Amino acid sequence: MGFYSPEIDRYDEMKYNRCGRSGLKLSAISLGLWHNFGSVDSMSNARTMVQRAFDLGITHFDLANNYGPSPGSAEENFGKILKKDFSSHRDELIISTKAGYFMWPGPYGDWGSRKYLIASLDQSLSRMGLEYVDIFYHHRPDLETPLEETMYALDQIVRSGKALYVGVSNYSPGLTAKAAKILRDLGTPCLIHQPKYSMFNRWIEKDLLRVLKKEGIGCIAFSPLAQGLLTERYFKGIPLDSRAAKRHGFLKVEEVTEEQLSKVRRLNEIAKQRNQSMAQMALAWVLRHSEMTSVLVGASHVSQIEDAVGALKNTKFSSEELKMIDDILDSKKSK
Ligand code: NDP
Repeated sequence: MGFYSPEIDRYDEMKYNRCGRSGLKLSAISLGLWHNFGSVDSMSNARTMVQRAFDLGITHFDLANNYGPSPGSAEENFGKILKKDFSSHRDELIISTKAGYFMWPGPYGDWGSRKYLIASLDQSLSRMGLEYVDIFYHHRPDLETPLEETMYALDQIVRSGKALYVGVSNYSPGLTAKAAKILRDLGTPCLIHQPKYSMFNRWIEKDLLRVLKKEGIGCIAFSPLAQGLLTERYFKGIPLDSRAAKRHGFLKVEEVTEEQLSKVRRLNEIAKQRNQSMAQMALAWVLRHSEMTSVLVGASHVSQIEDAVGALKNTKFSSEELKMIDDILDSKKSK
């Protein structure tokens, strides 16, 4: 693959939503590099996906220290793509990374200490060949480290210029409110929360969205397609190139249940009436909340990124449609 020159009209169709009460806008669709960008994956496919995403107006790319496999290799590969194709476009990109899960052995390579967060971000920057990331997240709560220590570390990271904004991921509503207060008092507001959210996992609807709205924190939903379950991917069995079929995939074959599939088939009938693919309806449904800044999709093929961006053509739901969707999701025994 030769020289990459981005599409001139790349900003024409994408929607950009303000992230909470901040100055930053994110593309309504963001691309996550958790799967399919590691050392086990095709580099040329990874590169084509990042290029196509950018051509479609996706400005936000989400990584973490441990993405791969092997851990760290997604950042390394993304760094190579940045160097080859995006060296004159750094200011058009929002690049996120995180620390919070196991990354290296010993007591300093996991959880939420200042020692771990700062060392991990330094490693991430060096893997990606960057001077700073746009957003740095604490990846999961650490109930043994004082919240103040973790938040002071995030504040220090911003002040040192290694990240422009900070966020939290997988934090409960109560912990999010506490973290937001500490960060606000330090003068480094919490930009964004990254929770898991999809038709199959609605925990944020109870309290988290209310907290985010009150605190002025943006929201970006991860695994909005339930890792591919909320698509037509598994309608005819488990395709060999699918996440569920891969040994290193986080979606296990046992999680592709007939009960869930029959729900997705019924949901797909509603999607068809809306002239959308199943994936498009699932993404539009996540974006229906005013607090939702962006949906963070994963992809193994360029066509999946194109499909995701197409979701923005129809993001309105009638109350009848929402009711039908709720009824299908709530049904115990699917028809
Ligand atoms: P999704 O729920 O969007 O699942 C993505 C997978 O679904 C793809 O890899 C593909 O799987 C399949 N798929 C996507 N589009 C289509 C389509 N149009 N038709 C059919 N199948 C499709 O998200 P992920 O689970 O990948 O998570 C997204 C991102 O969220 C991650 O990359 C990461 O950045 C972030 N994340 C954050 C976490 C956190 O703790 N903060 C945890 C997990 C993820 P296939 O390979 O089968 O083609």
